[in-house]
Amino acid sequence: AGFALAALEVVQILDSTNSELMRRIQQGTPPQSGHVLVAEMQQAGRGRRGRQWQSPFGANLYYSYYWRLDDGMQAAMGVSIAVGLAVYDALKQLYGLQVQLKWPNDIYLNGRKLAGILVELDGLVEGPCHLVIGIGLNVAMPEPSALQIDQPWCDLQGAVGKVDKNQLVAVLSGCLSERLAQYRQSGLTQMSAQWNRLNAFAGTLVTLSTGQRSWSGSCEGIDNQGALLLRQDGEVKAFYGGELSLRAT
Ligand code: ATP
Repeated sequence: AGFALAALEVVQILDSTNSELMRRIQQGTPPQSGHVLVAEMQQAGRGRRGRQWQSPFGANLYYSYYWRLDDGMQAAMGVSIAVGLAVYDALKQLYGLQVQLKWPNDIYLNGRKLAGILVELDGLVEGPCHLVIGIGLNVAMPEPSALQIDQPWCDLQGAVGKVDKNQLVAVLSGCLSERLAQYRQSGLTQMSAQWNRLNAFAGTLVTLSTGQRSWSGSCEGIDNQGALLLRQDGEVKAFYGGELSLRAT
């Protein structure tokens, strides 16, 4: 029970597909809900906290999806969880691939980063909220750019062979629309259990840090709000918020 895509827009070069949609929102001219913007390369691809997303020209996917949520920012909290599941769905459906998810927003294959998700918001705590859902997915990473990535990574072509990018965009957009519709309807009530089965760090010792502070514990998955659950000394604590970074201990 998804909703149809409003439009698919393909551009050759942008600073970042997320930045472009955020600008349109800030200028008071957001697209329609379900609008997809894809670029062939990004000159300033972004991760969280000002980190770079390597975005060379070629076959990789640099994708943003605009979604308007009328229930305000509070309701937007768990969106990256739903988006991670949508990426999982698409790769399962197309290639039978079984990826793992890392809280709050990364996609891994055999311990290597395949894709990143960057959800950005513009809105008020109450009232309508504009969401820009960015997905950077490595399809075929050119060698020189690969050298710039400072953690284990992989690409789709290396895992499944030749990829039809048009088909990938179409199926991903369908899966995303479905997961967002499910999210709007029932939040993470069903999705959190599903996500927990795909948790790359399930039951392992992890450290969560903000830069200033850090917490270690056994990773128990997420709750229905999308908060990360860490078990420390027999007690389970929930951690919210986008600025936290998770590492294996
Ligand atoms: P973490 O820091 O734990 O990876 P994060 O969600 O904070 O998670 P992001 O901000 O999503 O990370 O992504 C930025 C990081 O991802 C970069 O610092 C780099 O290590 C890595 N990276 C950058 N470009 C790519 C790419 N094309 N493919 C895989 N990894 C990349």
